[in-house]
Amino acid sequence: MIDLEKPGVHKRGKRKGQQKVALGIKDEITFSKYGNTDDIWLSRSAFDEFKKCKRCFYLIRKKGFVAPGTPQFTMNSTTDKLLKKEFDLCRKDQKSHQILIENKLDNIIPYKNEETAINIYGDPIVSSNSKKPYEKMEAWRSNYHGLQARFKKTNFILYGSVDDIWLDTKNNYLILVDYKSQANEKEVSQETYWDGDFKTGYQTQLDFYFYLLKQQNFKETISNDAYLLVVNARGLEDKFDNKLLFQSKLIHTKVKDDYLENEIQEMIDVFNSYNIPESNKLCKNCAYARQRSIIDKL
Ligand code: SF4
Repeated sequence: MIDLEKPGVHKRGKRKGQQKVALGIKDEITFSKYGNTDDIWLSRSAFDEFKKCKRCFYLIRKKGFVAPGTPQFTMNSTTDKLLKKEFDLCRKDQKSHQILIENKLDNIIPYKNEETAINIYGDPIVSSNSKKPYEKMEAWRSNYHGLQARFKKTNFILYGSVDDIWLDTKNNYLILVDYKSQANEKEVSQETYWDGDFKTGYQTQLDFYFYLLKQQNFKETISNDAYLLVVNARGLEDKFDNKLLFQSKLIHTKVKDDYLENEIQEMIDVFNSYNIPESNKLCKNCAYARQRSIIDKL
């Protein structure tokens, strides 16, 4: 795809709105956060990248290469934002949500934690906009901060932001939740939802959060039941009428993390290596670059 560098970046003396040249590499790479330069932070999406292709993970995360972007899923982020607002209303009143009630899970409510969020170094996490400390749930849902955990006794910190956490009030269990948006004429069902290769990524995502959540010293137990809240625009209406109608469905899964530490260690070994790993032979981007390099010397 063609992805053009956008103007509007305020960096290195360039004025806002001035055209930038696409370089394909960052002018500086940051591995750290909160002013600590000893640790290397790797996010859940870095792990996702590693699972798809070790070579791209290495080039992007370690060497600072900038891959061409894909179109932004703005519809998905809008539904995420609205779902968060909706569940926050129930969180505020500590009551269950309609979809939980419909699924006979009215003992489950959105988890509320108003304690000040603390980063891995023991300092309060402060919002760069309001300068106020984040509450824990806010920080865990922020892409920059997220749930944080040191990987064993290494200098690698893992982090990832969750969509939501629910509380099973009957058993005092914390439950992981991720929101997913899609458009498909077929109704979403528990029986068929997990069919298809890319859904494995959704499962890994929840497993990764489960691994992080277990390391936060909660008094509650972390449940190995987790849910996707899938909102599906089926498009079966007679006309558009300035609205898109979604059907919501809760999809249940069991999370596990017994395999994760080995894979995370493998990711760290790749990161620490001086050798560029193999590429993924299924990737069309690399195939394109390979073909192009035969005749097109830039
Ligand atoms: S195969 Fe090549 S382009 Fe594709 S993800 Fe891997 S390194 Fe990146």
